[in-house]
Amino acid sequence: MRLKQLEIKGFKSFASQTVVNFDADVIGIVGPNGSGKSNIVDAIRWVLGEQKGSELRLDKMSSIIFNGTKKKKAGNLASVSLTFENDKDLLPTEYNMVTITRLLYRSGDSEYRLNGVQCRLRDIRDLFLDTGIGSNSYAIIALGMVDDILADKDNSRRRMFEQAAGVSKYKNRKKETLRKLKSTEDDLDRIEDVLHEIS
Ligand code: ATP
Repeated sequence: MRLKQLEIKGFKSFASQTVVNFDADVIGIVGPNGSGKSNIVDAIRWVLGEQKGSELRLDKMSSIIFNGTKKKKAGNLASVSLTFENDKDLLPTEYNMVTITRLLYRSGDSEYRLNGVQCRLRDIRDLFLDTGIGSNSYAIIALGMVDDILADKDNSRRRMFEQAAGVSKYKNRKKETLRKLKSTEDDLDRIEDVLHEIS
């Protein structure tokens, strides 16, 4: 599997459409301070489903939309698309090219798309589960993360190995199943109460 392309529009400092092609094995992004290098990493985290503004260096999520400069007025929509070549069938989909898109409108409405078709965040998370790719996966090493891993802060080392070993998928499913089980038990309790009342 290979990261092929990042397309950004209206996201943070990228007012106009910007396309980054990842054609070589190693790609370096260089530029003066404040030119938007870290915003590119933020865009990748965001499209992969990051929900915490603080992880994207924001006070609130709506600040992600281009907020204008002296010469250019603020935008109404932030959009980021990330394209992967699924050549080794690592992603559980029939498609050879997979593009995920996230959009946020100034109104607060948001949308996720998978190859252009609207989907849920959950569909995107499920697709990348245990591939090492995700908003908080080891594929993106942010400043300070190495310290956290070495210090094993909040079990971060264990979580990283679980992702790499493919265990987190089953842990997530177990959590979801236990949640459904609990909700069914609550429903059964309620039915028993009603039966007591009418008998
Ligand atoms: P450094 O090398 O100093 O780390 P950098 O190249 O990584 O810098 P970034 O942190 O990616 O730069 O970009 C910061 C710039 O992005 C700032 O100029 C900031 O004003 C701009 N920026 C952030 N959010 C928005 C937004 N919503 N609208 C317009 N510009 C924004």
